[in-house]
Amino acid sequence: LHTIPYDIISDWMNQIVKDHPDLVTRVEYGKTYEKRTISLLKIGLNTEAKKKAIWMDCGIHAREWIAPAFCQYFVNQILQSYKTDAKMQEMMKNVDFYVTPVLNIDGYIYTWKDNTTRLWRKNRSLGPSPDCYGTDLNRNFDANWGTVGVSFNCSSNIFCGTNATSEPEAQAVTYFVGTRKDDFLCFLTIHSYGQLLLLPYGHPNYTASNYEELMKVGQDAAEAIKKVHGQNYRVGTSPDVLYPNSGSSRDWARMQGIPFSYTFELRDNGTFGFQLPEDQIQPACEEAYSGALHIITYAHNQIYSGAVAVTAVTLWTLLLAAGVTLM
Ligand SMILES: [Zn+2]
Repeated sequence: LHTIPYDIISDWMNQIVKDHPDLVTRVEYGKTYEKRTISLLKIGLNTEAKKKAIWMDCGIHAREWIAPAFCQYFVNQILQSYKTDAKMQEMMKNVDFYVTPVLNIDGYIYTWKDNTTRLWRKNRSLGPSPDCYGTDLNRNFDANWGTVGVSFNCSSNIFCGTNATSEPEAQAVTYFVGTRKDDFLCFLTIHSYGQLLLLPYGHPNYTASNYEELMKVGQDAAEAIKKVHGQNYRVGTSPDVLYPNSGSSRDWARMQGIPFSYTFELRDNGTFGFQLPEDQIQPACEEAYSGALHIITYAHNQIYSGAVAVTAVTLWTLLLAAGVTLM
């Protein structure tokens, strides 16, 4: 596996749609500051029933190149396992996966320019003072915006913007997810690095109402990750395991009522940091996939339990055997 520039990722998205027309569509849902189209892959079976949804975005921070690679890996894996795996077939029937491979497209393209821009983090909007570029999109969401772990200096890497949701990329996610918030079971936002599963909230004064469950599901996901290549992931709120912050998309999603909202910080622990060597892309994706799948499966099963489905079939069989006529 390699990390690849945005044009190739965009071509790859079109190819996935072509290869799986029954399952995948590409949905455009916003524009970046530099007027590039933000799009996602919607993956699931078309059914008559109202479906639940899973959100995943990658590349909200430009330099975290393993994240877009993971979104592509994730899409390839769920489409591959759909062919043979009964559980994935069940999930594709019940939920739609909304996967954005690169959210901060302007920033991502900027990091591909040359060595001096490789470690750019923010988007590319012009700040309030001249020659001052970029807002940290993961400090710009309307979740205790501008309170902790941010800067109001536009040259800072954690500049939170001039207002909550001032940035077009944050607006796109806010609108798309916000208008369907009751459908979403999971909100997974993928970053690097640090090998962490972060749960809401970033502000130390607030605790998620389902904190215990988020911890338990996160710890089980970390265990699933460890089984793949032995890597340790730490689990907790941002203030507990990393640092306090505000305005993250993860916190915003939880405040919208989406129950299972997590930030993934993928490999590594700092040896290579944002410049993860190519031979680690595959194992990093494999282990993170296992963790993400655990969370998604858990969330799915909360709504669609296998036991209920079996009971319905049994009842149906009994009714038929009894010769009941259904109107
Ligand atoms: Zn990040």
